[in-house]
Amino acid sequence: MAEDSGAKLILCMLSIAVLPIWIKAFWGYHLFPPRVKTIGIDLGTTHSLVAFMDPLNFSVRVLKSVPSIVTFLPNGTRVVGNPQLLEEHPRHTIFEAKRFLGVSYEDYVGDEKLHNYPFEVTGLDSGQGVGFVVPSSSHKNTVYTPLDVGESIVTELHRRLVNYLGYKTMTKVVIAAPAEFTLKQKELTTKIFENAGLKVIGLLDEPTAAAMAYGLHDKTSMNHVIVYDWGGGTLDVALLWVQNGNIQLLATDGDRNLGGADLDSCFLESLAPHYLDTASGKQKCHHHILRQKVEIAKEQLSSVNVTSISCGGRSKKISRNDFESGCKNVLERALVPLRKLLKDARLNASDVDAVVMVGGSTRVPSIRQKITELFDGIPPLTDIDPDTAVAIGAARASND
Ligand code: ADP
Ligand code: MG
Repeated sequence: MAEDSGAKLILCMLSIAVLPIWIKAFWGYHLFPPRVKTIGIDLGTTHSLVAFMDPLNFSVRVLKSVPSIVTFLPNGTRVVGNPQLLEEHPRHTIFEAKRFLGVSYEDYVGDEKLHNYPFEVTGLDSGQGVGFVVPSSSHKNTVYTPLDVGESIVTELHRRLVNYLGYKTMTKVVIAAPAEFTLKQKELTTKIFENAGLKVIGLLDEPTAAAMAYGLHDKTSMNHVIVYDWGGGTLDVALLWVQNGNIQLLATDGDRNLGGADLDSCFLESLAPHYLDTASGKQKCHHHILRQKVEIAKEQLSSVNVTSISCGGRSKKISRNDFESGCKNVLERALVPLRKLLKDARLNASDVDAVVMVGGSTRVPSIRQKITELFDGIPPLTDIDPDTAVAIGAARASND
């Protein structure tokens, strides 16, 4: 009995002794909740995103994407992510800079696409790659590099995150780069982030990041995974091998010149005659404006069957069927690299355990349907917003 009450007394004293620790932990958690220290960033060709793991509930959060566009205004200020400035300052507004990272200017000379940019692209001295010539107020030009543009975008993403969270501790970052980037291009990508004051703690291939967003590396039933990434200007397909929590890149294929912009072009071409003034033979709707409206209609037709485009005093009802028949060729071309990847790897569709869809253009129902048919009726993974999958994967990896 005496022993019993002695033990109780010791237990009671111990509880009192550890009470301050409990109180401190409880208040510490509420007064000083755990902070985000590591983040994931997808520095994309047309859009960039930052994501992080919420330390309170371990879910990944993604901030609204920022268009990968930087305007170097004549007064010396930089504006990041405002496509409207393209109209007002076409020679000062640089976009798609990622396409020029670590490439030699000589590779681009004579490329028709180069002359479609409203800004001036030049070769830097002694084979240092490509630069963008931006007029400044003193009638002199300033040359910016893809590194400068990337640094501005990353700085802006970080600034928005600091704004959102209210503190600055997240300086460690996991980044992603296209699987077909060379070592030099990957080093330059890392440099962009370091120049923006961040510490790169990991670099993933974009398809690997997308697979990680779906947690495929944790699934024992997964081995062969295909990542199909169809963005604004390019199509990238990758074959991954997943085993024991590791993801290995086996092969890549793609089309550097096939993206959502090509869907806009074929759709535009099929619709343009409806906005033609038959008497004068001239377009009633300005080409540039019609193109913008066509892109909006294309995106709407991914979720509705019918929409309309009004331009130059004409209005026309347009159906998803119109889009699919106008863009039949482009939609077919989008399957070519996928078939080739399977053929080169000597794989049947049934050998593939999962297909992950990434990039805005994979929202087109017809491409989802065609890929489902190619894989014997098994639909690809589309639960995660295809624009955010790479950033989510990078954020997950940053917490591993
Ligand atoms: P990138 O990886 O090149 O930065 P994104 O993944 O952001 O590009 O994809 C941009 C492309 O996705 C654009 O061509 C855009 O029109 C297209 N897109 C976005 N949403 C949709 C949609 N709902 N339906 C069809 N295409 C879409
Ligand atoms: Mg992308």
